[in-house]
Amino acid sequence: MSAPDDTGRFGRFGGRFVPETLMPAVLELEEAFVEAWADDSFRAELDHLLRTYSGRPTPLTECPRLSEELGVRVLLKREDLNHTGSHKINNVLGQALLARRMGKSRLVAETGAGQHGVATATAAALLGQECRVYMGEVDMARQELNVFRMRLLGAEVIPALSGSRTLKDAVNDAMRDWVASVEDSYYCLGSVMGPHPYPWMVREFHRVIGVEAAEQARDLLVGALPDVVVACVGGGSNAAGIFSGFAEEPSVELVGVEPAGGAAVGHGVPGIVHGMMSYLLQDEWGQVTEAESISAGLDYPGVGPEHSHLSDTGRATYPSVTDEEVVDAFVLLSRTEGIIPALESAHALAWVARERVALAGRTVLVNLSGRGDKDVAQMMDVLADRL
Ligand SMILES: *Cc1c(COP(=O)(O)O)cnc(C)c1O
Repeated sequence: MSAPDDTGRFGRFGGRFVPETLMPAVLELEEAFVEAWADDSFRAELDHLLRTYSGRPTPLTECPRLSEELGVRVLLKREDLNHTGSHKINNVLGQALLARRMGKSRLVAETGAGQHGVATATAAALLGQECRVYMGEVDMARQELNVFRMRLLGAEVIPALSGSRTLKDAVNDAMRDWVASVEDSYYCLGSVMGPHPYPWMVREFHRVIGVEAAEQARDLLVGALPDVVVACVGGGSNAAGIFSGFAEEPSVELVGVEPAGGAAVGHGVPGIVHGMMSYLLQDEWGQVTEAESISAGLDYPGVGPEHSHLSDTGRATYPSVTDEEVVDAFVLLSRTEGIIPALESAHALAWVARERVALAGRTVLVNLSGRGDKDVAQMMDVLADRL
């Protein structure tokens, strides 16, 4: 996967649709990222943190019992084993170091389920930065534990009170804060979305997932690569990270799995939201509609622009799975391999389970983007009749 063009476009998607007042900030950010990413000492410092703080490289795990049950050889890239429980820390450590390099002492972030907010609060604590996280009022009630975690880590959590009071409203509030505080503040965005350079920069910070996975797969498969690489898609950052290790290998099929209630690529139309042009769930008047999913981490009505482009070119496909299929997959991995997945990650597994006949005999690499600890309380209710 290559860099976008000078205006931040991947094909017809992406760009930077921001108010005049934010233009200097996104240009300053692009320049700072390009410079940092070409600087060996910046890369070395990030690598050092990824190794000694987050626990990279994360392992590749073969799943013999699950594979036997499905008739498909399943390998997992274990992003769930990262510090704070998901892939999000890869991006956040990169951006927090970039903020420090730019002389910005305060991080502003949005969060949905709270995982990105927790990762940002964690990095801010590590680097001694101030941190403010915007979170929809509805999400704050649904994800109390993550709100407490962020506060424990020293962050300020501010409820987003407009609109549906969920993730897209939190993004709006965070961007508004950034406009007003750009002198000393850095906007730490949580996925491959928003105005250029974010979709590209966040993908580059997650590229480590794909680079490690390709090398680990070659070791395990004695020089071969998996036939299919699968990841769940909210904004699309964990998928972009793992895809970037395989996109130049035409034999490897790339699959991004969306929730049926938030299938932006599957059911959206091109539109502009949060500074980017991408597939977006809209009503007949062009109003952004609500995504709905059992996992709060995938409740986003849009998708990163590079995924829209990968879909248009046919390089990747974006099927969706239902909440019911996700719950079954959540139980299946727990029972067969002793690994409780995040509900988001269970979307990728649910697709493999549903397509097992078509996938028979093939090797499938699933990006296990996060662990399920944060979801067990919710699943206690959902599974009350079954367990
Ligand atoms: C946030 C999150 C996601 C969704 O975000 P992407 O940008 O699509 O990766 C997926 N899995 C987990 C565990 C998450 O925390």
